[in-house]
Amino acid sequence: MPELPEVENTRRKLLPLFLGKRLLAIQHQDPLRYRNTERALGQRVEDLCRRGKFLLFGLTEGWEMVVHLGMTGGFRLEETPHARVVFRLEDQEVFFHDPRRFGRIWVVKKGDYREIPLLLRLGPEPLSQDFRFPEFWLGLKGSQKPLKALLLDQRLAAGVGNIYADEALFRARLSPFRRGRDLSQGEAERLFAAIRTVLAEATALGGSTLSDRTYQQPDGLPGSFQLRHAVYGRTGLPCPVCGEPIARKTLGGRGTHFCPRCQGA
Ligand SMILES: [Zn+2]
Repeated sequence: MPELPEVENTRRKLLPLFLGKRLLAIQHQDPLRYRNTERALGQRVEDLCRRGKFLLFGLTEGWEMVVHLGMTGGFRLEETPHARVVFRLEDQEVFFHDPRRFGRIWVVKKGDYREIPLLLRLGPEPLSQDFRFPEFWLGLKGSQKPLKALLLDQRLAAGVGNIYADEALFRARLSPFRRGRDLSQGEAERLFAAIRTVLAEATALGGSTLSDRTYQQPDGLPGSFQLRHAVYGRTGLPCPVCGEPIARKTLGGRGTHFCPRCQGA
């Protein structure tokens, strides 16, 4: 699933294509997944922001188009067999490609996210000044959940998914199975810093394109942070720090990758 680094890279590539352009047509056959898109017709795109894993297209006349890429969604400049939505701009077409159809689009009044509960309950952006250690530590202290589940929950930090939760916990040398409330302040500080550095590095490297090539930039380029993964998708391969084979266990239904020695799990 595209996470913060992949969605941010998508945003950066889409910005020059959409900014200042009028949405002449939005073609699809699924009004339940792609809701109220007729509201956006004829509107001009005034800005394109990101919140967690959501893309927020600010439109004229107070509308906002919110896009979630889901598991396999992404934008493409060329039509694909899995193109679900066609955005016709004044000078070109852009396609929303989504083989597994978990992606969603909503057109709402700007900032009115009542239809999108996941967006309403997002915590701070981890690469912004809003992400502060005192609140992060309070959130950890108040939770009995395992760290991996806490990171996926989006309330401590928006935009972290399975890949970057596993990588951040490895960098912080913390077991994914530890409980939030059991961490010392020093351990919590390591995790706070690891979340930021992993996400910043991955964003700078274009995100992670896995072997299924699900995630690509709109121009078809892959990310390259997958080459730096220490644990994610590396079950049985040696830990880059200690050489112990990387282990994988399921936690809350999600595959969780870790080094049993470095992370004491
Ligand atoms: Zn190790």
